[in-house]
Amino acid sequence: MSIVLKENLEKVLEQIEEAKKKSKYNEDVKLIAVTKTHPVEVIREALALGVTDIGENKVQELTGKIDEIGDAVNYHMIGRLQTNKIKYIVGKVSLIQSIDREPILAEIDKRSAKAGIITEGLIQVNVAGEEQKGGVCYDDVYKFIELCQKYGNIRIRGLMTVAPYTEDKDFLRDVFRKMRSLYDKIASENYDNLRMDYLSMGMSSDFELAIEEGANMVRIGSKIFGERDYRR
Ligand SMILES: *Cc1c(COP(=O)(O)O)cnc(C)c1O
Repeated sequence: MSIVLKENLEKVLEQIEEAKKKSKYNEDVKLIAVTKTHPVEVIREALALGVTDIGENKVQELTGKIDEIGDAVNYHMIGRLQTNKIKYIVGKVSLIQSIDREPILAEIDKRSAKAGIITEGLIQVNVAGEEQKGGVCYDDVYKFIELCQKYGNIRIRGLMTVAPYTEDKDFLRDVFRKMRSLYDKIASENYDNLRMDYLSMGMSSDFELAIEEGANMVRIGSKIFGERDYRR
């Protein structure tokens, strides 16, 4: 068992609790441990330490890990989606967090219907209008929700965002606040196949701020598993 992993995880869980105390939202915060680039043995250690949900951003890596680990953990797809790979994850993941365009909705719906299941997901929002990033533009989220209504085999459970990478805490706080207010606004309205249960925002560098401003799901990788080595 890795002592470092245990210590890192304990520290992150403590920091989550501290951030919750500073938040005016009295909600549980679900931790998604982001295991991309880390081998199955490391994931098994994390599971032994109580991790229940893991996130991956590449379909091939995700399905490989699902084949080895099986249903001992909940899987979250958090990376950019391609229509031709949707078929490999439908029915295997708990939550597809990165839904952001209609062809993706159509394909998830089609594959789910074929499998006789409802697939749950989050709408990824590009809150700061960053061109290189995925996500529905903040101002187009309502339009996108209307589109979602056409697809009966998908249930939207909330919103996800990847905040801009910056040291500017005020700017970040603003981004998280904007997301929470959109989330609350959508939650106050009635849609058939949509509920606002999860607001997934906050990563290693900004999860405390995100929780303070209303995140109830955080996706944390390097703070738990160490820096990633992409050459592997
Ligand atoms: C990699 C990744 C994370 C985790 O990043 P860390 O900075 O290592 O915590 C969270 N969300 C998404 C979408 C990611 O791709």
